[in-house]
Amino acid sequence: MRVGIGYDVHRLAPHRKLVLGGVEIPFDKGLAGHSDADVLTHAIMDALLGAAALPDIGALFPTDDPRYAGASSLKLLQHVAELLAQHGLSVGNIDATVIAERPRIAPVAQQMKLRLGESLGVPPERIAIKATTNEGLGFLGRAEGIAAIAVALLLENSGD
Ligand SMILES: [Zn+2]
Repeated sequence: MRVGIGYDVHRLAPHRKLVLGGVEIPFDKGLAGHSDADVLTHAIMDALLGAAALPDIGALFPTDDPRYAGASSLKLLQHVAELLAQHGLSVGNIDATVIAERPRIAPVAQQMKLRLGESLGVPPERIAIKATTNEGLGFLGRAEGIAAIAVALLLENSGD
């Protein structure tokens, strides 16, 4: 078994869609970034890549590469899943927390698990999506951005 951790943060900006865990959430702002800026999916990818001791998403999907401009992070997650399979690794489970004052995550958490699970080829029961606020403290508390942290457990496939 191998464990990895991922963390990401993106700034909230006007005139952007808010995409979290592959789900577009109606909101007055969205996250700024080169891809769709899906901070939750980014944290999960870095946890998976970390567990595999592979280069992180900044190295795999550079922000100066035009191929990833506006890219769906679920597509990038699919690519990560392929890399893991090539290395004889499968996902045990993923646990992730979104840190945001708004919007509420609980109503869409199940939909996020389904989308993420579909992209990864993992049953949604192996993915936990939780949310907390930052109690009004700091940049997250002032709702200037949204952060996400994730832990992933990978299993080394036997017989490879
Ligand atoms: Zn990111």
